[in-house]
Amino acid sequence: PTQTLVEMLDVSVRRHRRRVALEFFGAETTYAELGDQVARAANALRKLGVRRGDRVALVLPNCPQHVVAFYAILRIGAIAIEHNPLYTERELRHQFEDHGAKVAIVWDKVAGTVVGFPRDVGVQTVVSVDVTRAMPLRIRVALRLPVKKARDSRTALTVGRAVAGAVAWSTLTDASRINRRVAGPELGDIAVLQYTSGTTGSPKGAILTHSNLRANASQGEAWVPGLRPGMEVFYGVLPMFHAYGLTLCLTFAMSMGARLVLFPKFDENLVLDAMRTTPATFLPAVPPIYDRLVTAATAKGVSLRGIRFAISGAMNLPIDTVTRWETTTGGLLVEGYGMTETSPVALGNPIGPSRRPGTVGVPFPSTDIRVIDPADPTVDRGIDEEGELLIRGPQVFSGYWNRPSETAEALLPGGWLRTGDIVRVSADGFVTIVDRIKELIITGGFNVAPSEVESVLLSHPSVADAAVVGLPSLSGGEDVIAVVVLAPGTTLELDDFRAWAKSHLASYKVPRRIEVVDELPRNIVGKVLRRVVRTNLLDG
Ligand code: ATP
Ligand code: MG
Repeated sequence: PTQTLVEMLDVSVRRHRRRVALEFFGAETTYAELGDQVARAANALRKLGVRRGDRVALVLPNCPQHVVAFYAILRIGAIAIEHNPLYTERELRHQFEDHGAKVAIVWDKVAGTVVGFPRDVGVQTVVSVDVTRAMPLRIRVALRLPVKKARDSRTALTVGRAVAGAVAWSTLTDASRINRRVAGPELGDIAVLQYTSGTTGSPKGAILTHSNLRANASQGEAWVPGLRPGMEVFYGVLPMFHAYGLTLCLTFAMSMGARLVLFPKFDENLVLDAMRTTPATFLPAVPPIYDRLVTAATAKGVSLRGIRFAISGAMNLPIDTVTRWETTTGGLLVEGYGMTETSPVALGNPIGPSRRPGTVGVPFPSTDIRVIDPADPTVDRGIDEEGELLIRGPQVFSGYWNRPSETAEALLPGGWLRTGDIVRVSADGFVTIVDRIKELIITGGFNVAPSEVESVLLSHPSVADAAVVGLPSLSGGEDVIAVVVLAPGTTLELDDFRAWAKSHLASYKVPRRIEVVDELPRNIVGKVLRRVVRTNLLDG
């Protein structure tokens, strides 16, 4: 890439001035307005003392202020650090202790938490953002947010809600002038510290440069053919504090001059409401979201036609989901693969007839892959043989913040990233994800991929959801244990169910114990947290 993320936005601001860049519950911001707001906010951050290379924390759901703050941080060469605003005090504090940002821009609902961090965490300035001020009453009710009556909407707009110890974002930015003569970042500068999802351990801060993130947006442009600059409507239902939403919704939309409709959280009714007024043409999401949208749209008689492209990642995409989505929308739903460390997309199915459901497709442009023996990275695996996936490309990160030993383990000489995922590659180059190395179960000397057992269990009509984990067995190794959620209105006779599983799986893969639960623990993008399933089982 030859542009920083800031230069990329500037080009769109010039090219698409009057077009709508952001939409939030009907409130629109044009590209020209966005450019001005970013320049104003950048100046405000400078006045707070933020300089090139400084780290600034963002603790926000998707909202227009999130976008403005993000680009304002980058515009002055500082580093944006994204956080999940729904994290607990302890989880957030751990991340703040890790990165040490002095300035934090925080949703007012959680600003008090950040203000209350002990002194040694190092936060000096908390800026609180009144995210809900532009939300209609019914939306606040739908999101279970506090409903407060503003006597005068203009006062509410300029004053914002006061949080003790914090300065209001609106006060800060309204008082600031536009100053376009601030030196910007360079390509190799760090743009974002993006924490991983914390599926296998505590989240790690991946260092992503302008070059990494811009490269991934360009690769995305090459991947999705037929997108029309200035004409597309992107729906941002994935959180921008996760690598997937940050690149596929925000950066990609801004580079295409698209209208980005922002949702502070996924809710099928909010999405269907928006479909009635500004229908989406491009929707990146995860399988459970596609399923819930089809069900809700069918029940309510709302059309999803017009969504030409839907991109799925982060977890395995069931073929049933593809079929249901494509018949309902008339558009395509294709699967890709990525991780926070690859900005995040590394592989994708061709968007067209040569795509192959069940696989994650082929490497992105300028991306190389290898499959190795996880026990000895110098040994390459052959066609259709299982091994660990390695990735090299312009989107691959340069390391984890504050974690030299994890960085050294993840990055091999020559720029190869160890993904920790077991895959196999077909003769014509399509990649199938098997499972994570850390979650493979070793039982009686055999390796069992939990995802394989889960997909068999899920094919039973009474099973709505399933997670498979290994627990220590009396004989030393591990036992395969399954936890399932029943489909509404069904029952399950566990002995019969095990017998049924036996007819579909080699006997060492058949769960030794099956438990029925109400719900599985999932992370913010909907991945099952097998780690939590495991501890829950161990704790009783
Ligand atoms: P942590 O690294 O903190 O344990 P995480 O790996 O879940 O968390 P992410 O970077 O959000 O954090 O996720 C990347 C992982 O998601 C990949 O390593 C892979 O295991 C999984 N993944 C991504 N896309 C797919 C896909 N299409 N199918 C199956 N798994 C996928
Ligand atoms: Mg990971």
